[in-house]
Amino acid sequence: MKARSFSYVRPTTITEAMAAFAAAGGEASYIAGGQSLVPALALRLQAPDCLIDIAHIAEMAGIARQGEWLRLGALTRHVDAHDDPLIAACAPLLRLAAPHVAHPAIRNRGTLGGSVALADPASEFPAMMLAMGAEMEIAGPDGSRRVPADAFFQDLYQTAIEPGELLVAFHIPVAKPHHRCAFDELARRRGDYAIVGCGMMLAIPEGAVTEARIAFLSVGPTPLRARTTEAVLTGSRLDQAVIRQAQTALADDLDPADDGHVPAAMRLHLARVLLGRLLERLGGCVAEAA
Ligand SMILES: Cc1cc2nc3c(=O)[nH]c(=O)nc-3n(C[C@H](O)[C@H](O)[C@H](O)COP(=O)(O)OP(=O)(O)OC[C@H]3O[C@@H](n4cnc5c(N)ncnc54)[C@H](O)[C@@H]3O)c2cc1C
Repeated sequence: MKARSFSYVRPTTITEAMAAFAAAGGEASYIAGGQSLVPALALRLQAPDCLIDIAHIAEMAGIARQGEWLRLGALTRHVDAHDDPLIAACAPLLRLAAPHVAHPAIRNRGTLGGSVALADPASEFPAMMLAMGAEMEIAGPDGSRRVPADAFFQDLYQTAIEPGELLVAFHIPVAKPHHRCAFDELARRRGDYAIVGCGMMLAIPEGAVTEARIAFLSVGPTPLRARTTEAVLTGSRLDQAVIRQAQTALADDLDPADDGHVPAAMRLHLARVLLGRLLERLGGCVAEAA
């Protein structure tokens, strides 16, 4: 199928982009990398009157450290999440997750803003924003605001972004030297969406975990934090007994549904396997460092 015909505008400022959206009476879509939107247009799952190409808005680009925060423009591409040295130093979890997102051609065009604004619960980057405690900068008609990741993902494909608003940037707390992070996912084939995925950031200053943030993807309508499991880990050393306790606690955090492909019990089992592997990996890092 082909997309329905549409008009096309290419604003260079956020103000112009939002004005174009208003002028289209809401019958418009923003397009960034187009890696999700273009297939949706071709299948006529979406048929806007107007496409507003936001890829040339300078305010939405750039990667910069601002004190204890890393500011990532929403137009930062997936490939930069892997290749950029500042991201590797300040937000290493993004680098670990990036190779698991789709294929190189998609990673060259797709933006972090597009991935997080879309909020597919099977996507890697939205869950990593949760694990890193990122804040999303959103521009609306009354100015801009920052929304913590914990309040950003609201339901299936629903976020704190209102129609016509733009996700402008991510503000990510800069990882400290004592932070350890890990990411992995279980998928049928490399490059496929994951059956279950997990990213974590643990603060381990002197052998014991003082802070834990763990986020799962593909286990519910939104990316999910495993708060009970985080509480089990906090104050503990990552030995086998604690890892087993954390795996048991995960049942209080995740309540996956049967989806016709993977039974709920199997998805929870796979999430526990993944959690155990990642914690063992980080436990090994701590032992090596000691
Ligand atoms: C074959 C294939 C495999 C894929 N595999 C994966 C995978 O394994 N993991 C994964 O996470 N993704 C995967 N994807 C999806 C893809 O990587 C991302 O969803 C995509 O890159 C999103 O970014 P984009 O810039 O291309 O967004 P676009 O397609 O341009 O836009 C996506 C949506 O977000 C909105 N939007 C974009 N930017 C903004 C903004 N700044 N503010 C507000 N709204 C905005 C658009 O209006 C649109 O609704 C796959 C895609 C394909 C085609």
